[in-house]
Amino acid sequence: MSKLILVPTPIGNLKDITLRSIEVLESVDIVFSEDTRVTGKLLAHLNIKKPLKAYHAHNEHQSLEYFLDLIKQNSSAALVSDAGTPGISDPGFLLVRACIERNISVETLPGPTAFVPALLQSGLPCDKFFFEGFLPHKKGRIKRLEWLKSIEQTFVLYESPHRINKCVDQIMDVFGPNHQMSISRELTKLHEETIRGTIEEVQQILSERSKLKGEIVVVVDGRIPVVS
Ligand code: SAM
Repeated sequence: MSKLILVPTPIGNLKDITLRSIEVLESVDIVFSEDTRVTGKLLAHLNIKKPLKAYHAHNEHQSLEYFLDLIKQNSSAALVSDAGTPGISDPGFLLVRACIERNISVETLPGPTAFVPALLQSGLPCDKFFFEGFLPHKKGRIKRLEWLKSIEQTFVLYESPHRINKCVDQIMDVFGPNHQMSISRELTKLHEETIRGTIEEVQQILSERSKLKGEIVVVVDGRIPVVS
């Protein structure tokens, strides 16, 4: 029976690939990849040769049937994104849903994803949390932040380095200065760093530094702060 297997890949440090992920990548017939060059490099590093098919945000809608046919023609297909877990702020959900609807079995391997280490590194309450992923790039950011404020929980945002200062300014506008927050960047990489403090403190730190580079996760404690 045909099967789709979601395979997480490292978010920086190549040693974070799991033994099972390697085993699955070695055993599948075909790999659907967000960027075949990125996946090609990873597979070359692992000494694995597999046919690759590009599966990304620009073809995941219109080529859904094509990918379903490919899974049916093969006994197994792996889905990988450029980094982390496919489907988490990356393509994947549409294919998984379509497989489930057609009784094609789906398996998801656990593995690297950026929001888990960022959440833990923040030191903020993580018994309950909300994963927002990317805020809208242009319109609707403030509205969404206002909603996130209303849930009074820790929440996690993915953000690009180009928008991080604007993002912190907008968090300040909506939440005020006293909530705790953190910014984790370049997780698992050489220049990994986490900046923690109140929103005001983090905003101050950013204003004194050159523009942050690399990949960034923002975590905010959405509970109403107790100010002494
Ligand atoms: N699928 C990925 C996952 O499981 O985390 C997320 C992909 S999303 C397109 C890319 C975003 O994830 C980046 O903009 C950044 O917010 C976050 N990210 C990915 N790798 C990261 C890293 N090493 N350090 C910090 N954030 C990272």
